[in-house]
Amino acid sequence: MNGKGILVLNAGSSSIKFLLYEHRDGGLDAQLRGQIEGIHTSPHFVARTALGVVAAEKSWGDEVTLGHDGAVDYLAEFLRREAGGMELEAVGHRVVHGGPDFVRPVRIDAGVLAGLERFIPLAPLHQPHNLAPIRMLLARRPDLPQVACFDTAFHSTNPPVAQRFAIPADLHDAGVRRYGFHGLSYEYVASVLPEHDTRAASGKTVVCHLGNGSSMCAIEKGASIASTMGFTALDGLAMGTRSGAIDPGVLLYLMDERKMDARAIEKLLYQQSGLLGVSGLSSDMRKLLDSNEPGAQLAVNLFVYRIRRELGSLAAALGGLDALIFTAGIGENSAVIRERVCRDATWLGVDVDTEANRAGGPHISTRASRVSAWVLPTNEELMIARHTQRLVAAPAYAQR
Ligand code: ADP
Repeated sequence: MNGKGILVLNAGSSSIKFLLYEHRDGGLDAQLRGQIEGIHTSPHFVARTALGVVAAEKSWGDEVTLGHDGAVDYLAEFLRREAGGMELEAVGHRVVHGGPDFVRPVRIDAGVLAGLERFIPLAPLHQPHNLAPIRMLLARRPDLPQVACFDTAFHSTNPPVAQRFAIPADLHDAGVRRYGFHGLSYEYVASVLPEHDTRAASGKTVVCHLGNGSSMCAIEKGASIASTMGFTALDGLAMGTRSGAIDPGVLLYLMDERKMDARAIEKLLYQQSGLLGVSGLSSDMRKLLDSNEPGAQLAVNLFVYRIRRELGSLAAALGGLDALIFTAGIGENSAVIRERVCRDATWLGVDVDTEANRAGGPHISTRASRVSAWVLPTNEELMIARHTQRLVAAPAYAQR
């Protein structure tokens, strides 16, 4: 490794994931990927090569707290050791919320960081952690270009009516509106769709990002026009541990009758609901699909039913449908879930090719199918690396 490098960081509440790309011949090659988990309690670090071979591993023991700063320090030291010959060009960060202002990736300076801190109340469980390594690197390595890429930005093309809640204007103006998330995943999928299906790429597509967090996005001519997530990543589909859409009257009931405060409701809706809450067993789709328990079957049925309902809604927002695309952990790996979703969409013109679907695609609909169906693996890190490389190469583009 002696070329130029782009480091992608995805910092969460208890872990920092990283991916180091080498920038070669205009392309980006993944060289090392890994994570430090448990940064507040018993940290564990692992790094793998592009082929998945473990390159390094370390555990600190139960008594140790690294925090975000300690974790980034360790990572920097590791990269100096392992990739010392590589000139680090820039660091690209995944940042969950760009608010109403940041509608595309941006080069970070102190002013941008202050702007992003304003959105902490909009995503209190993610934004502060996303920003922690940015703040630290800005202080210690002010010469190192940093770029923020947002989960919300791809949805900035949604028409005003799709961004609006039916609430008074002053609340909307204060930022209470639909943003949508998983934007880097949708942007990546939209970027590779023309290689597979030119008609859909210039037409109407629904992408199902089905992972621990799940959402769906309606894309027209490459641009997002609607999605199932809204003000927060809690809205829309039933997820691993998140409820998805819920009648807001339930929240009033929980406050009035169950005397639950905001923190208790937050825990219920983010951590104890979804597949886990309904099944009473697990948030892991594999475990539920393997189980004969009625709760597990109900959870899977509800997951598929909610996708069916939202697909109808997004197809209505598009005014038609040319392609249905599956991505992320469940979407890429579960032929059973894909087949059920496709069969539910027969009325829309989806005719699933059972064999191709079981084989993993990428093309999983029959030749006769009016709507094509696809499995297209997502790559959010590569999307971040591409944006970062472009912004660093074109300083004039760096400002909002
Ligand atoms: P995250 O949202 O955390 O990035 P992923 O996209 O990795 O999550 O998706 C994790 C989900 O994918 C889990 O529910 C897991 O059970 C599911 N998954 C992974 N492989 C399979 C499989 N072969 N069949 C069904 N579900 C799978």
